[in-house]
Formats: sequence, structure tokens, C-alpha cells
Amino acid sequence: MKLTQQIALVTGGTKGIGAATAIALAAAGADVAIVGRRLDAEAEETRRRIEALGRRCRVIRADVGVAREATRCVEETARELGPVDVLVHSAGGPVNGGLLELTPEAWQAAFDVHVHAIFHLCRAAIPAMKQKKRGAIILISSSAGIRGIKTHVAYQTVKGALPQLTRALAYEFANDNIRVNCVAPGVIRTAFHATMPASVKQNNLDHRIPLHREGASEQVATLILELATNEYITGETVSVDGGLTMRIC
Ligand code: NAP
Repeated sequence: MKLTQQIALVTGGTKGIGAATAIALAAAGADVAIVGRRLDAEAEETRRRIEALGRRCRVIRADVGVAREATRCVEETARELGPVDVLVHSAGGPVNGGLLELTPEAWQAAFDVHVHAIFHLCRAAIPAMKQKKRGAIILISSSAGIRGIKTHVAYQTVKGALPQLTRALAYEFANDNIRVNCVAPGVIRTAFHATMPASVKQNNLDHRIPLHREGASEQVATLILELATNEYITGETVSVDGGLTMRIC
């Protein structure tokens, strides 16, 4: 298996895209730490599925939007499983609102979980990767970070930062054989879209997504697994969106 004896840390790995990714990485041989703010039934089910694959799993309760908690995720993983070889940052949720509705606190919180967490996670994880001369980091952007969405100013700004952060880190650490890539999902069926009105959803399927269907978390996870294991890809952002961002009308 491609990730035998490797350790993966997946923030947001308790649910949705992160959970599917954690399971895919475990199926490829990795022991996996998963992070969420709640240790609920979904987190427990993800742990059960990883362990059923014969892999070790640790569930870490943390808010990665808080610097010291993001750092602790890496430290706890290293202590309990081993130094992180594969880091996936999937934690995060929607941030709705235009400039005049959004509070300064909501703007700050969006940056804390979607961008600042990456700074702290990478600063904690990369030294061990440098020592091993091996590592893979995968960030989760969004179609919203590539094209505009009306009235979601914070979300599209933080997601838009990630392809550039990916290139910056990929270039900085290429000599250490640490690869950094990014995926940009479109509309993926998870709790993330639980509050999306049915009419908006139908309009997406009918008129905006060329493949006329939502994606599944497993389809994003397959791509993340490829980026974690293909040793000749770095600095890339790959869309998994049914064609949503390739069209102009
Ligand atoms: P999801 O099903 O709601 O899962 C989000 C995960 O992140 C959960 O495990 C959640 O656990 C965790 N989380 C959220 N905030 C956290 C925090 N501050 N600290 C630690 N864990 C936190 O959402 P998803 O659809 O899988 O989304 C995953 C990522 O993909 C997000 O970055 C999202 O922006 C991005 N994305 C999603 C879509 C989509 O269509 N679904 C499209 C584009 C991009 P707790 O709730 O227990 O904290």
C-alpha cells in the first residue's frame, strides 16, 4: 500500500470531505489523526471505519482557528502516532455575508480557521518532514476561491488565498521533497450545504454545473489521495467541481 507506515493528520477529518479523506488515506495504509471541535457520533463513526481497515486512529478535539490548538494537533499526532507525513487541512465551514453585513469578528474568524490555521499547522509539521526529506500537504480551497460569488466576501477571500499559499509553500520546501497541493471542490454533498435553499440548489444543478449533479466527498478524497501519493505533483490547485469553474456562461 502506498502510505504504509505513514502518518496522516486530517483537520476536519471527523466529517464530510475530511472524513472521506481520512478513510481513503487509511485504506492506502496510513495511520490517521482526525480533528474536529466536537467528538460526536460522526467522529466516532469515522474512527470506527478507519480502525476497521486495520489502521490506528486518534480523534483530536480542537479548534484549529486557535493558534496553540492547531499546533497541539500536530504535537499530539506526533506523540501518539508518529511525526506527520501527510497533512490535510479540511476544517472549516461557510462564511456567509457581504461586506456590510459581516462583523469584524466573523471576518477574523474566517481567516483564523481557513488561513491562519495553515500557518500554525505547517510550522509545527514541516520541521519533521524536512528531517525525513519527505512530506505531502494538501489544502482545500473552493470554486469560490477561483471565481466570484456575490455576498460571500470573506469565504471567497480566504479560499482565494490558498492556491497562492500552496505555490509559496511548494516552492519554499521543494528542496526538502515536501510537496504542497490544493484541491478546489465545487458543490459537494455534505453538511456544509445543509442550509442552502432548495431553489438555489436546483438552479445550480440545472444551470450552473455542466455535469448537472453534486459531487460526493469520496470523489474529493480520491483526488486528495492522488496528490498525497503522486511524487511528481507540487504547487498545483486541482478542481473537482463537475465543470463549474471552467465555464464562462
Ligand atoms: P463539513 O461536512 O461541515 O465538515 C467540516 C469539518 O470541519 C468537520 O469535521 C468539522 O468538525 C470541522 N471543523 C470546522 N471548523 C473547525 C474548527 N474551527 N476546528 C476544527 N475543526 C473544525 O464540511 P465539508 O463540506 O467537509 O468541508 C470541508 C472543507 O471543504 C471546508 O474547508 C470547506 O470550506 C471546503 N469546501 C467544501 C465544499 C462543499 O461543497 N462541501 C466546497 C468547497 C470547499 P466540527 O463541526 O466538530 O468542528
